[in-house]
Amino acid sequence: MNPIPRRAHVLPRIVLADSTVPIRLSAQGGEGLFQDGQEYIVSYYPTEEFAERSGWRPGCAWRVRSREGALSLDVLFEGEQEHVFWVEEERAGERFPIAEARVYSLQPDLFALRPYKGDLHIHSNRSDGREEPAYVAAACREIGMDFVAITDHRLYEPSLEAIRAFEGVPTDLLLVPGEEVHPPDNPVHIINFGGRFSLNALFGTEAYPKGVEQMMANLGAVPAGVNRYQAASCLWCFEAIREAGGLGIFCHPYWFTNHRYTPSGALTSYLFDRQPFDAFEVIGGFHRDEIDSNTLQVARYHEEQKRGKRIPIVGVSDAHGCHNGELFGWYYSIVWAPQLTLEAIIEAIKGLRSVAVEAVAGETPRAYGPFRLVKYALFLMREVFPEHDALAARQGALMLRYLEGDMAAREGLAHLQGSTARLYDRLWAKP
Ligand SMILES: [Zn+2]
Ligand SMILES: [Zn+2]
Repeated sequence: MNPIPRRAHVLPRIVLADSTVPIRLSAQGGEGLFQDGQEYIVSYYPTEEFAERSGWRPGCAWRVRSREGALSLDVLFEGEQEHVFWVEEERAGERFPIAEARVYSLQPDLFALRPYKGDLHIHSNRSDGREEPAYVAAACREIGMDFVAITDHRLYEPSLEAIRAFEGVPTDLLLVPGEEVHPPDNPVHIINFGGRFSLNALFGTEAYPKGVEQMMANLGAVPAGVNRYQAASCLWCFEAIREAGGLGIFCHPYWFTNHRYTPSGALTSYLFDRQPFDAFEVIGGFHRDEIDSNTLQVARYHEEQKRGKRIPIVGVSDAHGCHNGELFGWYYSIVWAPQLTLEAIIEAIKGLRSVAVEAVAGETPRAYGPFRLVKYALFLMREVFPEHDALAARQGALMLRYLEGDMAAREGLAHLQGSTARLYDRLWAKP
């Protein structure tokens, strides 16, 4: 039987579609893979078979001699797709597989963007989570997140607490304000991601009842089963979040609690019809025995799209602890943006440039969203994020040490700052 081929290190790994790019295959982590001077057979497979100009046919291969432990070749990468390079050596007229490498080619719009992983809904011990806000933030970096908002129930302050804890500290984690909004007498859970002010803080003031009253007066007829106050309250909240410069997220509509889904189906349908929210939590923080709820949210997302709706989506962990083996790291979003800023992340999500990832421990990860992005996300999860996450883990570990008062950790962070961005610069072909 042929040995299972090893994964070769390949640079660049992300290239511009329809361009000819010199690529270099070498060993992962410095181990020997290709013997100097030896000839290898590199078979090439564009995974979706559009390769008209290069005249690709099954079994298309090059004979390449190894130099300095690497195989170099120029390839025309046609279209937007994944490409497989299958390396074999020939011994006594027989071929033996040695290594495999993967490259992804992108149209200019996606090629120009970078993928960022984030959690837009997570709790600290300031509400019902386990750890301090700053600890949760650092732990998120340790598992590879690029951006995070601490979104405690009814509390905006914990998100600021986490931001303050790392003020002036050289980290690559984008920490933004946030809160889980619970409007009085309204069962809908809403995330204020990145808003400059708190909605929860407004519920005790005149602004809220006055605003909702006005909203109710202008609401028009609502379908049977929809509570007018609750409908108006939701509309008011999502509008206030937009005024605050945040992203308003409609959370977990198929949460099964007290023997039924909350909120009611009528209110959920009303919200999909009016679409006052900026993003839909298509993958929410559900435990293994609640995953039905995520299945329903995904089905609802597809159904609404079929009705012609344009639905921006996010995936969130809604974790209530970083070490209880539940939710933390199971669900997150991948967002494609020109840079890692709050404005760019919000614009990307609203612009449908995000997918929701479900990566329950011990199970095969899945991604949900637009087909083009899901396909690319699967490549990133397999070929790019492991290296990205290893760098982020080192930063996260140092952030945790810094919180424990280790001042040397600050120096270590200064040293590592920008390392994930530099990794991306290495993996992306020069345009
Ligand atoms: Zn909630
Ligand atoms: Zn929550």
